[in-house]
Parts: sequence; C-alpha cells; structure tokens
Amino acid sequence: MLTLKLPDGSKRQVAPGTMPRQVAESIGKRLAQAAVAAKVNDEIVDLDRELTGDGEVSFQILTDKDPEALGVLRHSTAHIMARAVLRLFPGVQLAFGPALENGYYYDIDSPTPIREEDFPRIEEEMRKIVKDAEPFERFERSTAEARGLVADLGQGYKVEHIDDDLKQYPSLSFYRQGEFIDLCRGPHIPNAGKVGAFKLLSIAGAYWKNDQKRKQLQRLYGTAFFNQKDLDAYLHQVEEAKKRDHRVLGKQLKLFTISNQVGSGLILWMPKGATVRGILENFIRDELLKRGYQPVYTPHIGRLELYRTSGHFPYYRDAQFPPMYFNYVAGGLDLAQYRLAAGELDAKKEQQFQEWLDLAGWDTTRYKNAKTTEEKLERVHQFALHLLEALDIKLPAYHAAKTSQERAEALRHWLDQQEGYLLKPMNCPHHIQIYKAEPRSYRDLPVRLAEFGTVYRFEQTGELSGMTRVRGFTQDDAHLFVTPEQIEAEIGSNIDLVLFVLSSLGLNDYRVRVGLRHPANDKYVGDAADWDKAEKTLLDVVKSRGMNYSAEPGEAAFYGPKIDFVVRDCIGREWQLGTVQLDYNLPKRFELEYTGRDNAQHRPVMIHRAPFGSMERFMGILIEHFAGAFPLWLAPEQARVMPVSEKFSDYGHKVEAELRSHGFRVTGDYRPEKIGYKIREAQLEKIPYMLVVGEKEQTAGTVAVRDRVDGDLGALGVAELIHRLTAEANERRIRQVSTATAGFAEGKAKYES
Ligand SMILES: [Zn+2]
Ligand SMILES: [Zn+2]
Repeated sequence: MLTLKLPDGSKRQVAPGTMPRQVAESIGKRLAQAAVAAKVNDEIVDLDRELTGDGEVSFQILTDKDPEALGVLRHSTAHIMARAVLRLFPGVQLAFGPALENGYYYDIDSPTPIREEDFPRIEEEMRKIVKDAEPFERFERSTAEARGLVADLGQGYKVEHIDDDLKQYPSLSFYRQGEFIDLCRGPHIPNAGKVGAFKLLSIAGAYWKNDQKRKQLQRLYGTAFFNQKDLDAYLHQVEEAKKRDHRVLGKQLKLFTISNQVGSGLILWMPKGATVRGILENFIRDELLKRGYQPVYTPHIGRLELYRTSGHFPYYRDAQFPPMYFNYVAGGLDLAQYRLAAGELDAKKEQQFQEWLDLAGWDTTRYKNAKTTEEKLERVHQFALHLLEALDIKLPAYHAAKTSQERAEALRHWLDQQEGYLLKPMNCPHHIQIYKAEPRSYRDLPVRLAEFGTVYRFEQTGELSGMTRVRGFTQDDAHLFVTPEQIEAEIGSNIDLVLFVLSSLGLNDYRVRVGLRHPANDKYVGDAADWDKAEKTLLDVVKSRGMNYSAEPGEAAFYGPKIDFVVRDCIGREWQLGTVQLDYNLPKRFELEYTGRDNAQHRPVMIHRAPFGSMERFMGILIEHFAGAFPLWLAPEQARVMPVSEKFSDYGHKVEAELRSHGFRVTGDYRPEKIGYKIREAQLEKIPYMLVVGEKEQTAGTVAVRDRVDGDLGALGVAELIHRLTAEANERRIRQVSTATAGFAEGKAKYES
C-alpha cells in the first residue's frame, strides 16, 4: 500500500495503480472538478498517471489556485498552439515547447514563415480546440518505436532529439490530443477545456538547441491563464512595464548610458542619474552613522592570494573577470588550466568559455569545431604546450602528466606562484583585512564596516540588461563582526534599517524569505548547534516583527542562513533586493579572532548585508517604480523657472538664484519659446515643479506654480514656495501621479528582471 500525506497533514492509504483523479474524487466532487494536476513529493504529475511504489509520499491535488498549475496549463497551451499551427501551416516541424515564468513558447520550423499577422487565425483555431475540450492522453513507446513514430509524423527535430539526448531511456512518453501527437515528458492538464484564456504574444528567432551553428527556427511566444481576468491583468502589467522600462526612461531622462567603448554591462552614470545616486548614498550613509557603522574605502582589486584564502578564486571564476597576471603568458595558461580542470562543461559554461576565448583573442575555430570533450581538451593541451614552449617555461610535471586533471594540477601549481590580481568580486575579503589590522577584544564588537564598494562580475553578454544585469556594480555593502550573543540584536537592527529605507521610497509591499539548511544535506560549514541557534534567531526576529515571511529549507548559503527581501513595485512585479547573511565560513578561513571576557581567543561571526543589493540595480528598480518621476527629495531637477517672455528673464534668474541658495536643484528655461512648449517639455522630463513668471508675478514678487502631480497651484510668494518645497523634501513625501495602475498591486503575475 501507498500512504499519501495530504497538505492538511491527514493520511490516506491507497493501492498502487490508483490515479490522482480517483483520490481527488474520494476527497470531494468539487475538488475533482477543480483538479488540474497532482503533486507527488516534489514532482507534478497528470491526474491520470498511476501512483506507484509503496511507503509514504506527500500528495497534493493542484487546482487553478496553485501557482504550479499555471506551468502545466501553459505547456499544455503550447501543445494546443502547435496543433493549431500544424492545421494551418502543413509541413511545420516542431522543436521544443516549454512553459516559461510568464507564458510559454514553441520553436517551429515552418516552410512559410509565420508572421504576427497570422496570430488572429492561429488563435481562432486554438479557440476551437479549447472549445472541443478533448483530453490529453499519455502513452508510452519503447525508444526504438518512439523514434519510428516521430519519423512517421514527419518530425525530424524530434528524431534528432531522440538520437542525441534520449537514447539511454528504455521508453519515452507521448501525449495525444485528437489528431495531434507530441513526444513529451508531460505533465498536462486533463483536457483543453481547462484553458480559460490565452494570447499569442510575439515571434522571435531561435536556434535549434540554442546553437548558433544550427538551423534558425521561429519561436512563437504566448501566455495562458485559468481565467480572462488574470490574463487581462497580466497584459496590463506588461503594457505598464513597457512604459516604465528603465532602459528607455534612463535614456530619455538622461540618467545613465552604456558605451561600447567602455564595455558591455558597465554603467556610466550621467549627471542626473549621479545626482539621484548621490542623494541615496548620503541618505543611507547618514542612517548608517546613526546606527554605529564605520565608513571604510577599499581598492577595486586585490591579490589572487587574498581570493584563494577567501575561496572566491578559483572556485567562482565562472562569474568573474579573468585574473590579471604580470606574467603575460600566465593569462593564457590560466584559461587553459581552467578548461582542463573543468572537464565536461554544460552548454552555458561552454558558451561562456568560448566568449572568453574570443575576448582573449585565441583562434578558436579548431576548439569550437571539436566534437567531443576529449577533442576540446586536446586542443587546449596543444595550446598550453605551445605557450610553454614559446616562453621556454620548464614544467616537467606538465609534460609528465597523462590526464587533463593532472595537467590542470601542474599548471595550477605554476600559476599559484605567479603574481596576479583580481577585479574584486566581493568586498568582504578587503573588509576582513581591516578587521585584522588591529587586535580586537569583545569590547570592540560589534565592528560594523560600511562601504559603497564596487565589484565586478562577468555576466554573459546575452544576459546583460540595462542597470539590472551588469558587469560592474556598487553594493551598499557592510560587514559586521559580532559575537554569537550579538547576532539577534544585529539582525534585528538590520531589518529595521531595511524597512526604514524601503518605506522612505514608498516600497511598502514586501515579503521576506528566510533561507535555512536543507535537512538532508551536509555541505554546510560551522557547528550544527550554532546553525540551530542562528536559524531560530532569524525566524524569531521576523516573527516578532509580524513580517510576511516564508521559511525555505535548502535556501541557506553553505556558510550560513540568510534573509532575503522581496519587494513588490506599484505594478505588482516582484524584485529581490538585498540580503542579510550570516557567515561562519570566512571568519574560519581568515582565522578571525577576538579576545573574550575570559581572556581567551574566540571566533567572531560575520554578517554580510546590502539592503539594496547594488546601486545600479536599485536605481533601475526605482526608475521603473516611479516611472521616472522621482519624488521631490530625489528628483535630479526639482524645479524649472520659465519666463513667459524674454522681458522677464532677469526676474526669472532672481527666483532661480533664490531657490538655489536654499539648496534646491533648480534650472531655468530662457529660450524664446512659447510657454506651453516649455511646460510640455518639463513635463516630459518629469520635473516636479514648473515655475512660470511674467508681468503679474514680477510685479507681485510671486511665481505661478505648476505642480507635476496637482497641476496649477496659482501664484505663490517665493518665500512661501521655498517653505512648501522644503517641507516636502525634508519629509521625503511621495506624491505620485495616480495612474490606471491603481488597485493593480494585487496582480499576481511575477516579472523577472
Ligand atoms: Zn507536452
Ligand atoms: Zn560580503
């Protein structure tokens, strides 16, 4: 017998071969009707898939209320779309069609290319399929028969997929829906009628198996939901997101730019963006000083030795810029060492390695054309030999080595002795050296070292995006060195700080994730009793603050538990901001100590924390959150003076100077343009206050105030205006133009940067 443990904790015994649908029916008719799929342990399965095995499993019927059911729905809609396309475009070949975070796609090869103008008729055909509500039927075939079947169906890509990737399986599964049969792992919704609402979104080019050397296919994107309301909300969110895209606004408002000459993913903050960033940094810096932090500055590079101790090098080198060696051959040998040590690489790392090769200027044709891992490693070996010989470097261990691993080891040994530097991927090792620069006693702790520290990571070109995915960024970083007894208070005050900062920016909708150890894993460093205590502390702190939190086993770093903040912006998208992480690992690696009350040496615990994560990413989020209309205290240009004609320019300059002397960021528009034109331009630039001056104002010593949010405020005396602006800025008031997005904060759809 099989014991099913249901979400409410109750248990049910069923015979092997029972289907989830039957379990749902035995629980209740309503549940059976609402059922979409089932979740057995961590696996999502069809309602008609027989349960196997014995012992106890966790079991849940998924309905349209469960987020995981959406993935099943969307992938099923990909089948429905493919079926419709095949009906309308005979001869289409199908490649892959997975579900995505917000929808699905199917890669197809069509003799007549599909255009977006074809979407209405494809959708029409899909509606017919949904209306017919035919079931998705699963069946299996031996792998040889499966190959025959897809060949009979004329699906060449599926044949190739079986030959390349699936031969090791004894049998493969298919799903049939009416005349449409697709090789597929599943799971699927019980029938097409479950699709409440769908829409085709776009077409893009995509290579077969993401390989640029292979055939280019068409990728048809769509999305699906269980009801029209959710689809409408999602489409609205996408529209809003487009309007708020920080890459577009950043350019339009002259906040930042990216130059190919400087490099991909490296942000150039323009004066207006830099002004906003400076205000944010000062704001945080002031708060940190109040909370007992000490400022430090550290350089952008450090010796490889430092990162060998910290463990950042070579272990995390996939995400780093290559090291800088003084010996200029060492760079090439370093790449060779990396490749030899890595052995077989997954597709993503292989692509990244090839990008490195291109950047390093290797002639990579032969490497890239190599078919097997062995051939690739042999190419690298030849390259290493060539380098060694060219510079007459004597490395008997390398020549004697037989395997790639041994060769890598010999090179590593040599490289370890070369002087080299790394662009810093993290600030922690530098801060640790400051901690170590003087003897510490328990009276000194906690030591809180803060720095807006710039770090560098090597993201793949294809993954870079505006300010949110970059190669160099400045963390609002700090490291706290604390005694075990101080953990609770420090975590608590960190959370208070984050919440204060977020609320100052109108980001009041958030949740926290507490990352805990995975019970079945032993990769974690540090003492188990310390971990128990630390995890309990983190949970106690979020509970006692009544925070909306989820505890997630397995999400801890190997060096300690952590808290992540996930913020929802005003159009309902979620952004992960910074983390607060406990660390038992680095104090051990760097042998950190403090003298305790007992006069003995003790090891401090480190806390890493960066509430915003990075200034770049946070700025990108803020631009989108405010749609570029920064509140007065952050606005790079707070007010603009506009004379109605040149006659009043002198008075305009006087008003401008008066405001500036009170610390406001103000400019003037003295061009001989119509006032309406000047106002429109200032509005496009999202300037909070437009100050119009003419005859009447000059005579009365006033300005006609136009507020970005409330429109015309009429004439105000200059002193009165200054009073008003000062209050609004000092209180960091957030006055947003209300948009059609009001009430959308409940939107469920998640948007990933
Ligand atoms: Zn499928
Ligand atoms: Zn750190």
